[in-house]
Amino acid sequence: MYKIKSYFTKKLDDNLAFHVGDKINNVKNNRKKLALKYKFEINNLRSMNQTHSSNIQIIDHKSDLIIDDCDALITSEKDICLLVMVADCIAILIKDERKGILAAVHAGRSGTFLNISSKVVNKMINEFGCEIKDIKVEFSPSIQKCCYEVNNEIIEFVKKTYGEEFIFNNNISLQDINKKLLEDLGIENIKISNICTKCSNENYFSYRKDKNC
Ligand SMILES: [Zn+2]
Repeated sequence: MYKIKSYFTKKLDDNLAFHVGDKINNVKNNRKKLALKYKFEINNLRSMNQTHSSNIQIIDHKSDLIIDDCDALITSEKDICLLVMVADCIAILIKDERKGILAAVHAGRSGTFLNISSKVVNKMINEFGCEIKDIKVEFSPSIQKCCYEVNNEIIEFVKKTYGEEFIFNNNISLQDINKKLLEDLGIENIKISNICTKCSNENYFSYRKDKNC
């Protein structure tokens, strides 16, 4: 049995994203501070140039430090640390601690509608022989149905594709849609944070609350 750890950083950990107009050296320093805080080797950190796709990459020590055009990483390497960056979207951790397989997924609206979470699970099964009964899932804090308002076109799409139960007036629940996708595969162990990144008082980055870095 392996032990896979996960952390969700707050604003006090500062900005970890290269793509939001921050100075490159600031981001590098913030990432180094994170490595010291959580005791991982900075060269073992892998992050993505996230593009709201359903592209999935399997990572090992030979992989680039930043994976381009990608929204989910899977690894079986024991000391690699996978980073997902979100500001309202859901970071989904999918793990099999019996086999020692870890996946980190960026699931915003597009990724969710592309079924990225279930595609990752299928890849873990096909490439690593993971079994559904061993898979555990955690959802990070993210924008919730209290705040996630979308336009009519999206409301109609959700109604047609997933059902009425995912719609709350003008809002939708991406958490519930992803949960359904995973439950449809037979996964029972799903932990969902009910912290909303937009309206909670906790200090998380929220794109809808503050579009700046
Ligand atoms: Zn909210």
